[in-house]
Amino acid sequence: MIDLVLLGAAGRMGRAVEEAVRAAPDLHLKACVDRAENLAGRAGVWGESLEPHVSRGCVVVEFSSPEACRQAVGLCAERGAALVSGTTGLSAEDEAAVRDSSRRCAILRASNFSLGISALRRALRATLEAAPSGWDIEIVERHHRRKLDSPSGTALTLARDAAAARGIGDEGLKFGRQGRGGPRPEKEIGVHAVRGGTWVGDHAILFAGEGEWIELRHVATDRSAFAQGALAAARFVAGAPAGLYSLEDCLPSRGRED
Ligand code: NAD
Repeated sequence: MIDLVLLGAAGRMGRAVEEAVRAAPDLHLKACVDRAENLAGRAGVWGESLEPHVSRGCVVVEFSSPEACRQAVGLCAERGAALVSGTTGLSAEDEAAVRDSSRRCAILRASNFSLGISALRRALRATLEAAPSGWDIEIVERHHRRKLDSPSGTALTLARDAAAARGIGDEGLKFGRQGRGGPRPEKEIGVHAVRGGTWVGDHAILFAGEGEWIELRHVATDRSAFAQGALAAARFVAGAPAGLYSLEDCLPSRGRED
C-alpha cells in the first residue's frame, strides 16, 4: 500500500486526484492539504499544513501553486519522501530548485499528466521528421477562464520539442502577434493562448505548407485524464531512487493495449 499526501486537495485537480485515489486499492490517502479557507466542513484527513504528513516512504502529489510546490519540494528532499508535481508556471529558480532537490529524493514533474499528451508528443516527433522542414509551426491552446498562467506549460513543452528539432532557440518562440510585424520569419514557432468557459485542456499543433496543412490535436474533456497519469506517476516514484523523472519514464515506450 502506498501512502499519498495530496497538496492542493480542494482544487479542481486535487478533487479529481482524490476521487481517483479512493477508487485505487493499492493507494492510501494519508492526508489532504489545502489553504485554511478551503477547509470549512472538511475533517478527518484534511489539514492546512503539509509539514506533519511528509515522511520517508510516502508520496506527495501536488497540483497547487508555485509557492506550495516550493514547500513540497523542500520537505520531500529533507525527509526523503517522493514527489509527483503538476503545478505549472514555475519560475526558472523554482525549476532549478526542483532539479537540485531531485538529487535527494525521487521527483516526477510533468506539465501535462494525460497519456494522450504523451502520445501527442510522439506524434509531433514523427511529424517533424515527415513534414517538409520549411513548413510553419504554430501552437494553439485553449483553457478555462480561471487558468492563471499563459501559455500553458504543455504548450511550452510542445513548442520547445518543435524548436529543438528545428534548431530554434527560445528567442524564436513567438507568444501571440499584434500590429504590423511584417512577414512571418522562417525560424519562428507561434504560441497562442485562448481563455474562456470551462475548457479543461486543448492543444493543437499546426504545420502549415503551401496550399496544405496538418493539424495534430489533443483535447482533454475531463480532469480524470490527468488524475490517472498522476497515479501512475505516484506508483512509479514510490519505488524509484532519487532523481528527476518525466511521465515517459513510467509509461510503456510503445503502443498501449488499454
Ligand atoms: P485550483 O486553483 O483549482 O487548485 C489549486 C489548489 O491549491 C487550491 O485549492 C488552492 O487553495 C491550493 N493551494 C494553493 N497554494 C496553496 C498553499 N500554499 N497551501 C495549500 N494549498 C494551496 O487549480 P487547478 O486547476 O487544480 O490547477 C493547479 C495547478 O496544476 C495549476 O498550476 C495548473 O496549471 C496545474 N495543472 C497541471 C496539470 C498537469 O497535468 N500537470 C493539469 C491541470 C492543472
